[in-house]
This record gives sequence, structure tokens and C-alpha cells, in this order.
Amino acid sequence: MPANKKLLILPGDGIGPEVMHEVRRVIAWMDRRRAVAFDLAEDLVGGASIDATGTAITDTALQRAWDADAVLFGAVGGPQWDTLGFDTRPEIAILRLRSELGLFANLRPAIVYDPLVDASTLKPDVIRGLDLMIVRESTGGIYFGTPRGVETLPDGSKRGINTEVYTTREIERVARVAFDLARKRQNRVCSVEKANVMETGLLWRQTVQALREAEYPDVTLSHMYADNCAMQLVRNPRQFDVIVTGNLFGDLLSDLASMLTGSLGMLPSATLGAPDATGRRHALYEPIHGSAPDIAGKGVANPLAQILSFAMLLRYSFGLEEDAALIERACVNVLANGLRTADIMAPGCARVGTQVMGEAVVRELDKLTA
Ligand code: NAD
Repeated sequence: MPANKKLLILPGDGIGPEVMHEVRRVIAWMDRRRAVAFDLAEDLVGGASIDATGTAITDTALQRAWDADAVLFGAVGGPQWDTLGFDTRPEIAILRLRSELGLFANLRPAIVYDPLVDASTLKPDVIRGLDLMIVRESTGGIYFGTPRGVETLPDGSKRGINTEVYTTREIERVARVAFDLARKRQNRVCSVEKANVMETGLLWRQTVQALREAEYPDVTLSHMYADNCAMQLVRNPRQFDVIVTGNLFGDLLSDLASMLTGSLGMLPSATLGAPDATGRRHALYEPIHGSAPDIAGKGVANPLAQILSFAMLLRYSFGLEEDAALIERACVNVLANGLRTADIMAPGCARVGTQVMGEAVVRELDKLTA
């Protein structure tokens, strides 16, 4: 018997616990119907943890994350914690998880599901069938580089400084994630930087190209400047398969790409660490939306981004491609049947709450496997 998969659930604040509750239905279904068993642990994180323990994530919770095969994260934050200092805010929990687990590759799929093709602000002709993946380096670059700070100049005016820094090792490890992903998709990677005006950009381009020649000659590689990439994402997003880029450009481009699909409540993400000698890697999965305090406690949040994050977890942490695809298909079928939470409501559809949406996904799973 293979050992059970160890999963840590961190629901967090606001709608986090509400949408996570619906994932638990899916996990229970997997347990019952697919014989995929999980050892589940759950802990507090974010504001909920601050209220109970005084800190956004305890050492015990961090140790549990370290011991787990994968972490499923909800969302953190809310107005009641907005007055806390930068070092003690709920968001510190995510930063600590990322840095302590060494999670450097942020994966954001942007998929347009047919039933939601009208939810985008772009024309259906441009985005129908879109399926792209942005891989963003998430522990380096200008957000972490030194020197940084604000200094006072002799004339009393000030100067703000941030520094873009990348090493070959940092570039190679995130590019490897992109090339490996591309091999399971359309085998195309577009590497994005500003090699025309930044030394780090030039190093990025040369390093990704050299890695491709040495280890991935079968993958088609192109290079693009970040400003052009932003334009191309809006003009013709289907030209892309996998985009790999640094922290700052990835931050902007992944937000841009996610909005091609039209709805925050539909978008999952993954952040991966480096594989060890046995191939095991730390990984955290979360929806890209926040804790949505404006709708928390009302039972109206869309649980699909959290459920789709769980599907990514099955695919990337456990290699359960078939089960991941099954969950994704169930979500699409529920939408095709005309069920909608308020955020994706469309004329002629039935408006439902969080729980009904979660139950509908489980019913679809039953149907798909009957
Ligand atoms: P948000 O994503 O929480 O909400 C933005 C808008 O989208 C809101 O109107 C909200 O109601 C709606 N929305 C979000 N998710 C939805 C869902 N699943 N279903 C239906 N509607 C949904 O962003 P915000 O309002 O800027 O931030 C709120 C709080 O969340 C802040 O404290 C912020 O710091 C935090 N936040 C946390 C994360 C995280 O935990 N990773 C990410 C972003 C924001």
C-alpha cells in the first residue's frame, strides 16, 4: 500500500474557510470513489492565526507545511487587521511559507472555459479556447534585491532604490519548471524580459537559451520583451503556450493574463519549490483571489478557484492527471449546465451560492464516473 498523501489545509480568513469547505466535499468524494486517500491536517493562518496566537503563522503550522506533501491555502487578510504594522500583517503568512519552503516558481494558468467565453472584456473570437500558463519567478528579482531603501540626499531631497538581481542558478531553475511544463502541453516556451535595456534581462535571455540547447532541444523557445508581451497578451493571447519571466514582469503579466478570462473567482495558482533527489518538492496551491471581506459570511463566494487549485495540486504534486482533469471537467460541466455564482452571473443562468456550487461539482463527478 502506498503511503497516504499528506495535505495541509490553511483556510485563512474571509471567504477562505467558506470555499475550502467545498473543497473538502471534493476530497471526501475522491476518498470514497477514487481510492485516493489523504492524511489531512488543518491549521490557522493569517488574521485568524493573529487573533488566536498573536502571529500570522505559528512555527507549528510552518513545521506542518514543511512535513506535508502539499499545502492548500485559502486567502488571508481583512479590514480588522489593516492597521497592523507591515511585519505583523496577515500577508506575512504567505511570505514566510514561500521563503521557508523555498517556493520560487509561481504557476498561473489562464484558461477560458467555453461557458464563460462572454465573461471576458475581450471579444470571444480572441479568447475562445485560450489555455496559457505563466511561470513567474517569485523569490528573487527586484522585490528582494539589495541595495534597497530610501535615502536622504545632501540637498534634503530623497532617493528611492530597488535593485533587480538574478543569478544563473535562479534563472535556470525557474526556466526548467517552464520547459518541463511545456513538454506536457504544446511544447512551446516564450521567455520574457527586457534584454534591450537591462543587464539582468540579457543574462536571463542568454541563460534560458543556453539551458534550452543543453537540456531541452525538443522544446520550441522564443524570446520577447516584456512590454511587447503585455501588448501581445491582449492582441492575440492564443499565440502563447508557456510564458516564463521574472518576478516583477510576472506580477504584472500574470494579472493581465488572468483578467483575459474575466473572473477572479475562477482562477487557481500553484507555487513550487525545487525537487529533491527523490523528485519530491514543496508546493502550495491557492486561488488568486483574496479573502473578499465584502462578501464573507454571506455564502455567495465562488468556490471554483479553490476547487481548481486542488485539481492543480493533484496534477503537480501527485501526478494524478486523470483525477485533476476529472475535477476540471466537472467544474466546466456545472457552468455549462447554467449554474453561476454572483461574480460570474450571466443572463439566462441560475444564480446559486457557495454550497450549491460545491454540491453541483460533486454531483457532476458522480455523473462523469457513473
Ligand atoms: P479580493 O480578491 O479579496 O476581492 C476583490 C473583489 O473580487 C471583491 O469584490 C470580492 O468580493 C470579489 N471576489 C474575490 N474572490 C471572489 C470569489 N471567490 N467569489 C466571488 N467574488 C469574489 O481582493 P481585495 O478586495 O483587494 O482584498 C481583500 C483582502 O484580501 C485584503 O485584506 C487583501 O490584502 C487580501 N488578499 C489576500 C490574498 C491572498 O491571501 N493570497 C490575495 C489578494 C488579496
